[in-house]
Formats: sequence, structure tokens, C-alpha cells
Amino acid sequence: MRIGVIGAGYVGLVTGTCLAEMGNRVTIADIDRRKIAMLRKAQSPHYEPGLADLLARNIAEKRLFFTNRTAEAVRDTTAIFIAVGTPQDEDGAADLSYLEQAMRDVAAAMRGYRLVIIKSTVPAGTNRRLTKLLRQLTRYRFDMVSNPEFLKEGAAIDDFMRPDRIVIGVRSKRAALLMKQIYSPFVRTGQPIMIVNPESAEMIKYVSNAILASRISFMNEMAWICSAVGADIDLVRIGVGADKRIGPSFLFPGLGYGGSCFPKDVRALACLAESLGLKATMCRAIDEVNVNQWNALFPFIEREFGDDLQGRRFALWGLAFKPRTDDVREAPALHLARELVRRGATVKAFDPVATQSAQKVLGNSISYARSLYAALDRADALVIATEWNEFRTPDFSEFTRRMRRCVIFDGRNIYELALMRELGFTYYSVGRPPIRSGRNNCSGDILARKSSRKRKKGLP
Ligand code: NAD
Repeated sequence: MRIGVIGAGYVGLVTGTCLAEMGNRVTIADIDRRKIAMLRKAQSPHYEPGLADLLARNIAEKRLFFTNRTAEAVRDTTAIFIAVGTPQDEDGAADLSYLEQAMRDVAAAMRGYRLVIIKSTVPAGTNRRLTKLLRQLTRYRFDMVSNPEFLKEGAAIDDFMRPDRIVIGVRSKRAALLMKQIYSPFVRTGQPIMIVNPESAEMIKYVSNAILASRISFMNEMAWICSAVGADIDLVRIGVGADKRIGPSFLFPGLGYGGSCFPKDVRALACLAESLGLKATMCRAIDEVNVNQWNALFPFIEREFGDDLQGRRFALWGLAFKPRTDDVREAPALHLARELVRRGATVKAFDPVATQSAQKVLGNSISYARSLYAALDRADALVIATEWNEFRTPDFSEFTRRMRRCVIFDGRNIYELALMRELGFTYYSVGRPPIRSGRNNCSGDILARKSSRKRKKGLP
């Protein structure tokens, strides 16, 4: 099939590339000239594991094309996926202006029937509203489909290629048939294609994100209670997650969720409810708990260094809102960095792939290290904001060698308490008992520590 995609962002680019991989001829349009120039050279404008290879192959095999002109993605195509951003407006509601502009661009280029597919996350009622708009703008026939996307950045290719389910919100049989034709190669192991009305499709996306966000916020609230009563939230998490009715996913406490979806989607859902005269108590609480959680480490930082951080040097590991992406939108790490700087500290950050994106937002307010260990040089403390795998088993002797003191504020609970105790580090995490060791009493090597203790006791 000939397919157009409007928007070459995290969703549009993966959607278009995966559709090309299945043999479709895909043209992706974006108004961002820099992105399209990069993509024409088979360079991805953002980091996503596995994307670079797929891009290169499909461009070389002449199934994947890029353009700055929407008309080129609409003129000879049957189906047009719209994957432009729907950020939050100043009131917290979804800003649909990019989507409306894309609709105008599509209308101007239509020369016959088109299947117009809304992939962007939108409030219930948007399909109806955009159908009305497009009807005013074109004399050609079309079907407007709501097809929310559930991919996760960092695992987007796999998610798109092997989705848990495909949700299709349609009002016509023809549109349902065409959508099934597009998606049949992706559901060969029997994942369901759900055909529902557009309002239900739109709500399935928002409710999914709100439930996932609610689990995170709920566990973050529980983490504070665990701390206060001397429980360990990670043991509680495992105990609770073993219940089949609950399951183990999305129960990890930490610095709260970020990214381009959960924060804005939970707020947009609340705004939608309130615009209908309904209460959004749960959605508002999920958001409030999360925003407070961005500050979760500051009580510990104050306990260790006081309010005024003038002259203190912090290493910051992780800038992306989660591992395996360079996306820093609403990343808790950015909030942390800003707050440390506001309190007078200097910050040197390391992230395996998100440094450039963070630099666009934070500029020179902090400095950026080339390696995880270089960030530690002469630091008073390390703050961990993103749980990249390479942070999980570092060479702890580098900490003792490079840092002024071995103090870690771990916003993602990536180290075992027993290990930190054994190494003699001062270690604060979320919802677990703090470990405070005496000054200069740390070692990066458990074996060295054990033998020095034995020597002190006069043991062989
Ligand atoms: P993004 O900001 O990365 O990409 C949007 C792209 O659309 C940008 O490149 C922008 O230049 C382009 N654009 C805007 N107006 C345009 C126009 N008129 N014509 C052509 N291009 C235009 O956004 P994203 O993260 O890909 O998200 C897109 C949508 O998908 C949002 O609604 C989001 O909520 C939803 N979504 C995102 C994810 C995710 O993980 N990022 C997952 C599921 C759903």
C-alpha cells in the first residue's frame, strides 16, 4: 500500500519505518527541515535502539521517502497517518493546533478518497471534531480513524512490530477493512485487533497511560510510608507484585515519571473530565504526587549538606526521562539539575545518549562529562536520576578514587543496601532505610574492606 505519515517524531518515524519494513511504500513528511535533511541521509534525528538499521535498509530499498512538503505524503497515498505532537496548552489540556494544521495541509493536497488515521494521542471527541473540520475543507470522501499508539521509547521498534493489541476506532466498514489490511503483518501471532468506536479508541489510550502513571504515583506515596515505619519499599513491591491480580510491572518507586506522554496525558484527561463538569480527583492526585516526587531526594540532600549548597559539587548520572532514549521532555533529572543549581551547587552530568537533548534545555547552567566516571571527579555526592543499565554495576573503586566523599543519592534504587553498607558508602534511596557511614570510611572494593577489617582485628 502507499502510505503517508505526517510528523517524523518519535512515533511517526517508527510508524513509517516499520510500515515500510513490511513492504509498503511510505512517505514521511515533517515541517522540520533539519530532521528531513538528516533522514534523507539515513540519519535518525533521535536515538531509538534498532531504528538506524531499519531506516538505512528501507531507504536503500526505496520503500521509505522523506519530504518537507505534506502534499508529497498525501498526493499518491491511500492511507495517511497523522503523528504530530499534542503537547499540553497553558491550562494543561491537549493542544490540538498541530493536528488541526496537519488536517488543513492534508485537505489542501487531497485528490480523491483518503483514509486519515489519527495516531497522535488526543482527547475523546477529537475524531468527531476533526471529521467536521476536514469535511469543511475538502470535497473528497474520507474516513477518519482513531488508532492510538502504545509504543514505548527505548523499545519502540519491538513494540510496533509485536504490539500487545491494535486499537482501531472507526465508523465505517471500509475503514476497518483497510486498517486490518495495514496491520495484519504485525499480528500474525494472534494479538487482537480491536475495532471500536472512535471515542472508545481515544479513551483506551488515555486510560492506559493514566493507570500506568497511577501505579507509579501510588508506589511513590507508599515509599514515604515505608520510610517512616522502617520498611523497605523494594521488599514490599516484590511482595505485592507476586499477587497475580496486581502483577510486578510499574511498581518501581523513584523520582516519578516524566517523558512526553504520562505527565501531559494525565493532565489532559483531568481537563477533559472537568470540561464535562466531572471530577478528576484521581488524575489530579496522580499528577500532584508525581510533581512532588521530583523533589524526593532533597530532604536527604539537606540532611547531608544543609539548605545552602554553595560550593558543593554534584555528579548527576542520567538526564533522559528513562533509559534507552535521548528524550528529556519532563525528565525528573532536569528538574533536579535546575534545583541543585538554584541552591548554589555545581552539577556535572553524564548520560549515555541524552546529553545533547539536555544541553538544548539546560545550556551551560551545568557541565557535561564524557564518561560516567569523569562526572565523579572531585564531587561531594552522586545523584542518580535515570536507571541506565551501565550504572548498575560500576567500578566502585573509581568512586573512592575520584570523589571527595562517597555519598550517593539514588533516585532509582539501583544498588543493594547490603552492598552499599559493605562498601562503607553513605547511601540514600527512595523508600528504603538510609545508610550513613563515617567520613572517609569508604572503599570501592568489598574484598579489600573485609581484609582490612580482619587485619584490624588481628585475624589472618
Ligand atoms: P514529536 O514531538 O517527537 O514529533 C512530532 C513531529 O511532528 C515533529 O517532528 C514536528 O516537527 C512534526 N509536525 C508538527 N506539525 C506538523 C505538520 N503540520 N506537518 C508535518 N509535521 C508536523 O512527538 P512524538 O513523541 O512522536 O508524539 C506524537 C504523538 O504521539 C503525540 O500525540 C504523543 O502523545 C503520541 N505518542 C507518543 C509516544 C512517545 O513515546 N513519544 C507514544 C505514544 C503516543
